[in-house]
Amino acid sequence: MIVRLPKILIDQIAAGEVVVRPASVVKELIENSIDAQARHVSITVSNALRDIAVVDDGAGMSREDAELALERHATSKIQSLEDLQALRTRGFRGEALPSIAAVSRLTLTARRAEDLAAARIVVEGGRITAVEQAGAPTGTHVVARDLFYNTPARLKFLKGPATELGQISRVIVRQAFAAPTTAFRFVHQQRVFLDLPADQLPESRARQLLAISGDNLLEVQFEKYDLRVRGFITKPIEARRDRRHQFFFVNGRPISHRTLAYSVEQAYAGTIITQHYPVVVLFIELAPDEVDVNVHPTKEEVRFRDENKVVGLVHRAVAETLHAANLAPQVRLPDLPPTVPQTAISPKTSPSDYQAQFILAGQALQIPGAPYQEAAARWDRLPRSESQAAPPVERIAVAAIEQAIAIATPAAADEEIVAGSAAVAPPSEVSSRPRAIAQIADTYIVAETGDGLLLVDQHAAHERLLYMRAQAMRGSPTVQPLLVPISVEIRPADRPLMDELAPVLAEMGFETEAFGGHTFIVRSVPTMFEQVDVAALIGDLLDDLAGEATVREGERLRERVLTRLACHAAIKAGRRLEIEEMQQLIDDLLGARLSYTCPHGRPTMICLTRDQLDRQFKRK
Ligand code: ADP
Ligand code: MG
Repeated sequence: MIVRLPKILIDQIAAGEVVVRPASVVKELIENSIDAQARHVSITVSNALRDIAVVDDGAGMSREDAELALERHATSKIQSLEDLQALRTRGFRGEALPSIAAVSRLTLTARRAEDLAAARIVVEGGRITAVEQAGAPTGTHVVARDLFYNTPARLKFLKGPATELGQISRVIVRQAFAAPTTAFRFVHQQRVFLDLPADQLPESRARQLLAISGDNLLEVQFEKYDLRVRGFITKPIEARRDRRHQFFFVNGRPISHRTLAYSVEQAYAGTIITQHYPVVVLFIELAPDEVDVNVHPTKEEVRFRDENKVVGLVHRAVAETLHAANLAPQVRLPDLPPTVPQTAISPKTSPSDYQAQFILAGQALQIPGAPYQEAAARWDRLPRSESQAAPPVERIAVAAIEQAIAIATPAAADEEIVAGSAAVAPPSEVSSRPRAIAQIADTYIVAETGDGLLLVDQHAAHERLLYMRAQAMRGSPTVQPLLVPISVEIRPADRPLMDELAPVLAEMGFETEAFGGHTFIVRSVPTMFEQVDVAALIGDLLDDLAGEATVREGERLRERVLTRLACHAAIKAGRRLEIEEMQQLIDDLLGARLSYTCPHGRPTMICLTRDQLDRQFKRK
């Protein structure tokens, strides 16, 4: 027997897709506020995150519209399919309000500027129980209480309060990045978690939300064909242990896109410590018909008409911004104590609430300083149900991304790397070219710059250079056949690993061949790396790979080989160098791109500027 489902049941089913957790309610409501041009949005959450109130001072609604807004598929935002394609609003499905109303006790109060009174509508589990006049300022006030009271199964699926609260924060933060002119205030159990003023510049908003100060924030301004990428990325040194500090927006709308995130990480490859991820906020703008936003009920996923192009260009935008930046970490010397003793005790600074709640969500910001630890300790007492480990790295279509990157990157970029190895482009101003003057502990090179001091870690720096050269020669190495082949013994258990490794080694010019049981012979080596102890290199690589439980993508394997190769071939710490050798290294280093960190992400050099010296000696 076929029956028509009652309206409430239909709404509850729809709610299953749109409203899966408290954070979804917050997301939908603030999207509506932003769509209504609100200047101030205030979010209050209590009752174990099951009572959620969002107040805005946006356009409000007439009484008729307010009633209509609670119907499914009632929206003021689109009227036709063409509208959907040219969409500029966050909402368009007309599903959020009825869905939230179906799984909570909801009160909607709205007033337009031209109306004398507000309309208040009370809904209980999807049924309108009252429509009345009320006094209220212009704008809209939605209160959803006892979320999921009538869908116990959903309630059971909620994660611990810390996790859910973290989700809510993240939802707000994401919207806040995209709407810097709107003020946001988020209060949970009387505690203000986030308080962002109206009319912020995008940069101030980004700095405040990411808690990044100084010159570690880099602005991205990129335009190519009909695509624009704006936003902020951070120096590799700011990398975090998980991907939750990456924010992507397409035409103003926050999105998740794995391939995009991966391509950004690729642009940072070799500059970030393993298991760390860059912090970025990127706004991608392209013609609305180049992107399909109607892929998923929560509108978070998008599909690009030409994904390769978008991914490739975003990669390029990030890579070029990094290359243009001075990535050498500046020394942070502690300020000397003031000469006049101070009697007043300086007030202790407390962490911003956003920082505190980020720590709460298990995303410690790793900023040194007591206040954060204090906050962390405070929040640590909250119950936590989930493990805080970074999400496992997912398999991604690496080949497709590589291809996309190749399309978008001009061929010249590769040549530049090679040029860095042979003819070093001398730094433009002769006077500012650092001059090697000494070596400390046979490990660090001291160089004088135009008006400061440069300290170089000789091993890390050389390693970085060799890594880039090896990368450039990959696939077409100049090979040196060995008259007397080298034989390498491997452990029987490593045989399958060696079979995986051999083709990658061959790409780099190390041709190996199985020679009975556990012996391999090396027939040739790349000319550039002929001094390397191949047996030791292969031994180390096998050890590395044996210790890795995860699936090995071809690309990751190559990365590993490059890193190891560079490490083996690089000048060791503790080796005495002639001044000429030091100078050569510094010149090579400065001629190469992205050379401020070694392939493991450790810094290769440190700068001490004139300004810092002056301050240390109290000239300033
Ligand atoms: P959508 O946002 O997809 O249109 P919703 O169910 O979220 O669907 O909202 C339905 C309609 O209610 C919106 O199109 C809008 O006209 C109106 N509305 C919802 N929230 C607000 C608000 N905060 N201020 C003004 N109008 C609102
Ligand atoms: Mg909406």
